[in-house]
Amino acid sequence: MRAVVFERYGEPAEVRDVPDPEPAPHGVVVRVGATGLCRSDWHGWQGHDPDIALPHVPGHELAGTVEAVGGLVTRWRPGDRVTVPFVCACGRCASCAAGDQQVCERQTQPGFTHWGSFAQYVALDHADVNLVAVADELSFATAASLGCRFATAYRAVVARGRVAPGEWVAVHGCGGVGLSAVMIAAAAGARVVAVDLSPGALDLARTFGAARCVDASAVRDPAAAVRDLTGGGAHLSLDALGSPVTCAASVDSLRRRGRHVQVGLLPVDPAVPMARVIGLELELLGSHGMPAHAYPPMLESVRAGVLRPDLLVTSTIPLDEAPDALAAMGGSPGAGVTVIDPWR
Ligand SMILES: [Zn+2]
Ligand SMILES: [Zn+2]
Repeated sequence: MRAVVFERYGEPAEVRDVPDPEPAPHGVVVRVGATGLCRSDWHGWQGHDPDIALPHVPGHELAGTVEAVGGLVTRWRPGDRVTVPFVCACGRCASCAAGDQQVCERQTQPGFTHWGSFAQYVALDHADVNLVAVADELSFATAASLGCRFATAYRAVVARGRVAPGEWVAVHGCGGVGLSAVMIAAAAGARVVAVDLSPGALDLARTFGAARCVDASAVRDPAAAVRDLTGGGAHLSLDALGSPVTCAASVDSLRRRGRHVQVGLLPVDPAVPMARVIGLELELLGSHGMPAHAYPPMLESVRAGVLRPDLLVTSTIPLDEAPDALAAMGGSPGAGVTVIDPWR
C-alpha cells in the first residue's frame, strides 16, 4: 500500500510503498476512505510524543470500510462503514470497566503507538470496543473528523465543560477543534466568544455560531477583551489550540467559579495563573477524546442537521500532498479542516 512515512523527527515525510497491515486477533484492518490532518500529527512528527517509534506513519482521525477482521472480532465484518476514536481502548482495564475508555490504561492510538491512517489501510485494535458505525449518508471526509477533533470538542464542551443554555463560552484558537467547539457550544444554546489571530478563522467562527469575536492580533489582552464582552468573564473557556499563551488566556477569561477545559496538546507545561484558580474557585479540566459508546447522541445531532461537521471540511488533498500539508500544520492553524483521500 501507499503511505506517508517519516524516518526522522521534523524531517520531510515522503509517500512510499510499504507492506499492507494485518489485523490482530481482536482487531481489524480498515481501507481508509478519508483521514483528517490534525495538529497532533504535527506534534508527533516533531518528536513531541514518546509513544512514536521510527520509521512512522502518522494519522489518527479516519473513516473507511472494514477490509479484514481478526478471528476474535464478533461485531464487525468486511464492508462495514466505520470510524474510530483516536484512543483505542483495551476494553478490560478498570477505566474501561467504568466506561472511561478515553483514558484506558492500555490504550493504543493509530498514528502514535502504531502506524496510522496517512495510508491506504490501517490496523485498529480491539475492534468490538472501539469501532463506530457510520451511516451511508455520512461521507468519509465528514466522518473522519468525528474521530478526533469533532468528538473531542463535543466531549470537551458537553461532558467535561457541562455547557448550559445561555452561558458564555470562550473558545481560544479556531482551527479544526476550535471551530467544532464553537458550533457545538452554539448548538447547545450558549453564547460563544471566538478568539483567534486570524481574521479568516474568526469569519468561519461567526458562520458557525460565534456571537462575538476577539482578534487576538489586534488587542493587547485577549482575556480582558473576553471578560469585557461577557460581563465579567466566560462560564466555560477552552484552549482549543494548545499553547502556553492560549492556555493562560483561557483561564484568565473566566468569571468566578468558571470552568477551563484544556483540549489542545501542549508540547511543554504552561504557566497557569493558579492564584486566580484559587481565588475565583476555577475548575481546570482535561479532555481526551471520547469513547465509542458515547458517540450516539453526537451522531444523532449530526443526522438531524443540528451539528454540521461537513461544513468544517474545507479541502480534500491526495496522499502526495500530505507531507507538505503536515509540515504546514506547525504554522498558525489554517481556517477549516483538510482531509486526505489516500486513493487519489
Ligand atoms: Zn487529532
Ligand atoms: Zn482499558
